[in-house]
Amino acid sequence: MPDRDVIVAGAGPVGALLACLLAAQGFDVLVCERHSGPDARSRAIGIHPPGLAALDAAGVGDAVRREGLTLDGGEVQSRGRTLARVDFGRQRPVLTLAQHRTQALLAGRLAESGATVLRGAEVTGFEDRGDRVGVLIARHGTEHDITAALLVAADGVRSRLRHAAGIGWRSRRGRARYAMADLPGRGDDAIARVHCEPAGLVESFPLPGGARRWVVRERAGAPLRSAAAFQAEILARLGAAPAMPSNARPSRFGVSQHTAARMVQGRLVLIGDAAHETSPIGGQGMNLGWVDALRLAEALGTQTLHRPGALQRFQGERLAAARVAQRRAAFYMSMGAPATGAALSGRDALIRLLGSPVLRGRSADLVTMRGL
Ligand SMILES: Cc1cc2nc3c(=O)[nH]c(=O)nc-3n(C[C@H](O)[C@H](O)[C@H](O)COP(=O)(O)OP(=O)(O)OC[C@H]3O[C@@H](n4cnc5c(N)ncnc54)[C@H](O)[C@@H]3O)c2cc1C
Repeated sequence: MPDRDVIVAGAGPVGALLACLLAAQGFDVLVCERHSGPDARSRAIGIHPPGLAALDAAGVGDAVRREGLTLDGGEVQSRGRTLARVDFGRQRPVLTLAQHRTQALLAGRLAESGATVLRGAEVTGFEDRGDRVGVLIARHGTEHDITAALLVAADGVRSRLRHAAGIGWRSRRGRARYAMADLPGRGDDAIARVHCEPAGLVESFPLPGGARRWVVRERAGAPLRSAAAFQAEILARLGAAPAMPSNARPSRFGVSQHTAARMVQGRLVLIGDAAHETSPIGGQGMNLGWVDALRLAEALGTQTLHRPGALQRFQGERLAAARVAQRRAAFYMSMGAPATGAALSGRDALIRLLGSPVLRGRSADLVTMRGL
């Protein structure tokens, strides 16, 4: 018998959620997280209905609802005019909550789940031994070899385990750079605003506590490194800009999209960003990873733990979902690219069409990740 049923590499949002689900199903789970402390990076804020369903399954949905902000809807604007409006409604709620808070709530749930969590423990390698997998774990300067029926790599976009397994990482065309800042505000409404301006995208999303996340697509060769540059760019594009506290600094990120050639290889399963990198524009990556975790837990609940070959259906469905999410993200990015002349008028017309009474419901389904 292997030492453990499942070893999960990575206690980010996806690994933590999977471990909660598996422990609740009675599996003996070991989670290894290379960092000792919490992850304070400012990343995901958007929680969509499929992600919320996964959080509910892990018993943390209500805590996220209590702390998060439920959006009323979204608007797309250009040059001061509203081109489209969508209402998310009570049926398909979209929440915002800073990722580090969501992760803290998941970590709290994980601590009481029955799973064993080793922090400061890095998975450095593995060996598929046919009837089990040997996992090398480095902690406090010592390397341990622990066996499991299954190793799940939830170790993020630069996944060491994906690399060690030699699994291909296919790139999708389309790159862009953005700057973002979470800024205090008056909390006047709970509407997400997307400005598709000639000089490029500006987004502003409400956050709990009245703050807003501002995201600006950078122009080629014009990085927005300072608060002053960030604010000036918003002012130039929208004619008004948020106040920037003296200590505020935008953070910058580049966007690329990738999909792993396989999510299942022998006794190794990749999930979350380790399996697919999705552009933050559209806010789908974490949610997609949570659904991976939910579907994997469901599949493992039906006796597939010792027959990982039976996970082919899981893999097919999740890779297909990732490709759909990436197509949608590529579309959102194209709507926020700099544009002039006929391209700009055509884009405005398309956005108006998507916001028309006939298509509005379908557009709301797309942005709230229906079917993923
Ligand atoms: C600016 C920005 C905004 C975003 N906004 C959204 C959004 O609004 N909505 C959304 O759904 N997504 C969003 N995303 C994407 C989201 O942040 C990621 O999809 C999500 O963090 C992926 O979670 P994960 O658990 O798969 O990977 P990660 O969050 O990267 O976690 C991986 C974990 O594994 C650990 N680890 C790595 N290697 C090892 C190892 N060898 N051994 C042990 N531990 C290891 C790491 O320390 C880390 O804790 C955004 C991303 C960015 C950059």
